[in-house]
Amino acid sequence: MSHTANTTLQIDADGFANPAQMVLSPNQDVRPDPADIAMIVIHNISLPPNQYGGPGIVQLFTNQLDSQAHPYYAEIAHLQVSSHFLIRRNGELMQFVSCLQRAWHAGLSQWQGRERCNDFSIGIELEGSDFEAFEADQYRTLQALIEALRQRYPIKHIVGHSDIAPGRKTDPGPFFEWQRISQPD
Ligand SMILES: [Zn+2]
Repeated sequence: MSHTANTTLQIDADGFANPAQMVLSPNQDVRPDPADIAMIVIHNISLPPNQYGGPGIVQLFTNQLDSQAHPYYAEIAHLQVSSHFLIRRNGELMQFVSCLQRAWHAGLSQWQGRERCNDFSIGIELEGSDFEAFEADQYRTLQALIEALRQRYPIKHIVGHSDIAPGRKTDPGPFFEWQRISQPD
């Protein structure tokens, strides 16, 4: 495992990353087993689709999305969803849910025979799409975050949303470069 990434990023005992910009989401609840944090799920998201930098993602995760603001928002504004983390295009890290809590990012899902992946996973959203490369700054933050999470939790698998919800989800998409992150052995 390489340690060239930002080693100042840490996960504290309450499950919060430091440094990170914190915006708490109401879309969370208690994990069935708070000690069972075995998987990282990587996603992509952009709101409006394929547009970057706006407030849409934060609004979605805090139930503040205005269904009138964009045609697509009318389809999703009612959803109660969240992720533990969001990595912006410039590499900025945001956190919405403590790692000790269950965030609502995976939906109907299964991995190696286990269902309800939200129960035992950490969700990381990369601001991006299925149609465009991610930024080097995003991979740098992602790798530092993965290393910090592995210091704190018994992570055994790092998968994409499409791996646990095939046929239903396509993210993080064909442009995500898996070789740029280090997998658990
Ligand atoms: Zn996803």
